[in-house]
Amino acid sequence: MRDTSKTWLIKLMETGYWSDFYVYPFVVVALLACAIFKLHFPWWNAGLLLIGGFCLWGFTEYFTHRYLFHHAPFFKVGHGEHHSRPKAHLGTPTLLTLAAYVLLSWPIALVTSYAVAGCLLAGFISGYYGYVICHHIVHNWKIAPGTFLHRYKKFHDIHHYHQVVNFGVSWMIWDKVFGTYQKSP
Ligand SMILES: [Zn+2]
Ligand SMILES: [Zn+2]
Repeated sequence: MRDTSKTWLIKLMETGYWSDFYVYPFVVVALLACAIFKLHFPWWNAGLLLIGGFCLWGFTEYFTHRYLFHHAPFFKVGHGEHHSRPKAHLGTPTLLTLAAYVLLSWPIALVTSYAVAGCLLAGFISGYYGYVICHHIVHNWKIAPGTFLHRYKKFHDIHHYHQVVNFGVSWMIWDKVFGTYQKSP
């Protein structure tokens, strides 16, 4: 018999899979528009913070996957489901990730400004969006060997067989920095 808490978790993960694709582009545009047009934040500063937030995601992707998804209770169960059924469309509900990102950027807004935190968050979410798309592609698209995307597919496939390496998905650099990078044979 199936564990009911697991079924509940899987249902939640199934609901969350596609919503990210539709919701987050609007969130990014809304955050940038607010900062530039409403708070009159200079667009070049917004651009720099956008890049900064985007890079910050790469670091977060590595650490959340390595420590949270593979070791923390609850997250471990959900991520384990993905490892056992990589082609199933299981994601983190958008409301949860969005709430977490807003809460985490709140202290930044308090010590800097809403415009700075908003642009940084827009970049961070753009990075997250890149991760979501990359992860979808590597598991669901037919990718020809030797192409740019095939490098990412091999990189992530190795993680699915050997769960102590290649924790990045859309970023490979942090695995190289922290010694967990395994090149495809
Ligand atoms: Zn995967
Ligand atoms: Zn994993």
